[in-house]
Amino acid sequence: MIDYKCSKCGEAMSVPSSLIGENEKCPSCGNVSIVPHPADISPEGIIKNADKPKTAIPGEGPEGIGGWLIFPAIGLVLGPIISLFNLSMSFGMLGMFTEGDMAIEYPGAQEAIVGTSVLVILMVCFDIFVAALFFRKKRSTPKAIIALLAANIIITFINVAWASSAFMTSFDIGELARSSVVAAVWIPYFLLSARVKNTFTE
Ligand SMILES: [Zn+2]
Repeated sequence: MIDYKCSKCGEAMSVPSSLIGENEKCPSCGNVSIVPHPADISPEGIIKNADKPKTAIPGEGPEGIGGWLIFPAIGLVLGPIISLFNLSMSFGMLGMFTEGDMAIEYPGAQEAIVGTSVLVILMVCFDIFVAALFFRKKRSTPKAIIALLAANIIITFINVAWASSAFMTSFDIGELARSSVVAAVWIPYFLLSARVKNTFTE
């Protein structure tokens, strides 16, 4: 039997272990909640982290880095490689803007190349940090991924705006749209997916 207290009214509940992960109605207040895993019940019977994902129940739903989770796994590894490649390209251009006509025509170019590169390097570090959480299946992974996706939109916006002002080109909306679409797809996935809840439990 699983003994715990209703998270709403505190009524003592006692249900068979076979109901772990199932909905159970409190006989006193009618609140419907998920029967917690014993590891999520404090000695006083209080459900720990009642608002957080429950401890994974083995055999219930998909788990592990498979299914749709393959795509963020690839993205976390390829992202820094692509970023560092692009970085080497823009550093190659740096010499063009150090002296001569180009430097006079685009006075802010050098600053923009160095500044946006620093931001890209910071994002690469953040990506590697999140990848380490991801592959170690840490509980904080979904939050870290969401922060990374949000930071990516902000950094992309700053870099695109900085480049367009330094090189006097129109604002390239494409890159910003891409990072927004990526976030719009993956943030809900990391919040709602059963596989995510079952995988990042360390
Ligand atoms: Zn209750």
